[in-house]
Amino acid sequence: MAKFCADCGAEIKDGQDVCLGCGKVLNKTTANSNIVDISKEDKAANTGFILGLVSLIAWLIPLFGYPVTICGIVYSSKGLKSTSKKTKAIIGLVFSIIFLIFTLSNSILGVIEALNAA
Ligand SMILES: [Zn+2]
Repeated sequence: MAKFCADCGAEIKDGQDVCLGCGKVLNKTTANSNIVDISKEDKAANTGFILGLVSLIAWLIPLFGYPVTICGIVYSSKGLKSTSKKTKAIIGLVFSIIFLIFTLSNSILGVIEALNAA
């Protein structure tokens, strides 16, 4: 996304603090702060959604199931604040919670089986 200096019209690159055209110090905190927040939440919603899908398989192995589902819950919860990706965040959250329960049951069953075998 190209931005331009309001004073001299020179192009401003991402992460640039001072305009190379006129030396104006650019204000990073005002206009862009809302956009950055929304995209962070969108990213969290997407990550939560993907982790939710991965948890469909990951719960079979507790070693993967716990980190995937717990991260899925964390990211999806953050993603719930996103306006455009809220549905994905909800799906990610529901899947992560369901498969965290599956992971728990799976590891409990594993312990019971191990005790029976002993
Ligand atoms: Zn300038």
